[in-house]
Amino acid sequence: MAPTAVNPPRGSVLVLVGPSGVGKGTVIAQLRRRFPSVWCSVSATTREPRPGERDGEHYFFITPERFTELVDSGGMLEWAWVHETERYGTPREPVEERLAAGLPVVLEIDLQGARQVRETMPEAHFVFLAPPSRAELEARLRGRETESAQEIERRLRTAEVELDAIDEFDHVVVNDTVDSAATQLAHVLGLIQ
Ligand code: 5GP
Repeated sequence: MAPTAVNPPRGSVLVLVGPSGVGKGTVIAQLRRRFPSVWCSVSATTREPRPGERDGEHYFFITPERFTELVDSGGMLEWAWVHETERYGTPREPVEERLAAGLPVVLEIDLQGARQVRETMPEAHFVFLAPPSRAELEARLRGRETESAQEIERRLRTAEVELDAIDEFDHVVVNDTVDSAATQLAHVLGLIQ
């Protein structure tokens, strides 16, 4: 039977966690193509933009000083040091605006951030996007050619920690095809039955 569109419950939040290189961005892009009301929070980060990344679209690229200011003024819904070197966080206001308007929100954040959101928004849906295998993840990460060898090793270490926490999640979605992973996220958000 074809999936039926339904109104998402007011203020649905889906927290998507998964190791670097697993394809979170691609799956979210596919979900948004199929369900344009889904909004994905744009995180703030202290890391440098990669080639092709645009400020305000992929991330808000901000200075360490500005990041600290935002944290101190309560402007971050959650934040964490990721890959040991840089800070990433979710600006609070845009998320609260979408939720107040009853729109579905996706947060693509790391494990530490997800744990913080579980404290403040226990009603959110916590989803782990897993690679088909660890070997496949390593191949994808090395094939991306956007990070140095040292950076890839660091991301693989973070990935081990994240994969070990998979049992903390309400749902595990294996990203073997982008379309089926996006469909499973739509189910979790109540966008299809
Ligand atoms: P990348 O540098 O590859 O874009 O992202 C590295 C990691 O940072 C991703 O795996 C993602 O989970 C995490 N990340 C991105 N934005 C946020 C955020 O707003 N908060 C937290 N806690 N982690 C984030």
